[in-house]
Amino acid sequence: MCIHIVMTDDLARIAIWDPDEVSIRVARSAPARDALQEVRDILMIDLGAPVSRGGPMRCFCGMRVELPYELLPCFLTAEAG
Ligand SMILES: [Zn+2]
Repeated sequence: MCIHIVMTDDLARIAIWDPDEVSIRVARSAPARDALQEVRDILMIDLGAPVSRGGPMRCFCGMRVELPYELLPCFLTAEAG
């Protein structure tokens, strides 16, 4: 079962790994860039996913991790402008 990413309200941290749901919970209030970095760290450091610098994030099995639209690059660009 692959890791998925869910946006969550009222999270004490930017992002946390939830082993029960096989998901990484991301605080909706966190800046998207920080959230992406945190998600990447959790995937690579805590979960042993392949390093994907600059590329799409990957699950520990190598499959691409689907990002919620809040974290997609096009949304970030829109937000910055
Ligand atoms: Zn997987």
